Amino acid sequence: MTTQLLKGKKALVTGASKGIGRAIAYKLAEQGADVAFTYLSNQQKAEELATELKELGVNVKSYRSDASSHDEANELISNVINDLGGLDILVNNAGITKDNLLMRMSEDMWDDVLRVNLKSVYNTVKASVRHFLKQKQGSIINITSVVGIRGNAGQSNYSASKAGIIGFTKSIALELASRNIRCNAIAPGFIETDMTDQLDQKVVDEWRSAIPLKRGGRPEEVADAVTFLSSDLSTYITGQVIQVDGGMLT
Ligand code: NAP
Repeated sequence: MTTQLLKGKKALVTGASKGIGRAIAYKLAEQGADVAFTYLSNQQKAEELATELKELGVNVKSYRSDASSHDEANELISNVINDLGGLDILVNNAGITKDNLLMRMSEDMWDDVLRVNLKSVYNTVKASVRHFLKQKQGSIINITSVVGIRGNAGQSNYSASKAGIIGFTKSIALELASRNIRCNAIAPGFIETDMTDQLDQKVVDEWRSAIPLKRGGRPEEVADAVTFLSSDLSTYITGQVIQVDGGMLT
């Protein structure tokens, strides 16, 4: 049997009932980490994931917790630290889209996306920072997007939230580096999940043809990058944005 990269580590993944979050929770558990994860509406899928993860022989806890709520994030972090007996890896993955051209984008569409995608990252990092500082180690990984780097017509709210995550990640990396706490972001390109299933076929075809590797990515390919940043294979990497995009932005 090969050595597990994350044996003894405790991880929290937000928004893991499906898609990329689910793949991340699975890979971290496969590498030996005890895993806590959150969901918002998909209780059945969350229960199925918890059962699968337990079969890997690690401790597992799932919580219904709205990532956009500051109070719920405080409660979540305190419960995770109690229930798992610590926290070493925090993966901020929960995210939504509410796309439209700016002309047709309501204030609610703007506020909802900024709250779920960006404020959520502030919420969990703020709630856990004291714990990380005391512990003098930790890895925070925030899931941004290539559109946070290059923008995208029809996604000004989403792109702004993801660009905000990059600025937040780099700032927090600078604030926490002296205590051996790393903070990095991963920018997926076009990954095949329910989120991209909602896109118009024409948009999907345009995205695909712009990818040098000529295919969409799999959630597991994003999860591999998260595993790397969670592990001791990346102890000298902080403040970075790693693109997992098949070469899309080169
Ligand atoms: P997805 O399949 O739609 O899954 C989203 C997950 O987030 C679900 O588990 C959902 O939980 C959870 N969630 C949504 N709102 C939440 C909230 N307020 N509180 C807690 N959890 C919440 O999306 P995905 O494609 O896997 O995307 C995951 C992350 O990767 C997002 O941050 C997304 O922006 C980013 N990303 C995706 C792509 C892509 O091509 N797919 C590209 C770049 C970046 P419930 O199902 O329980 O509601």
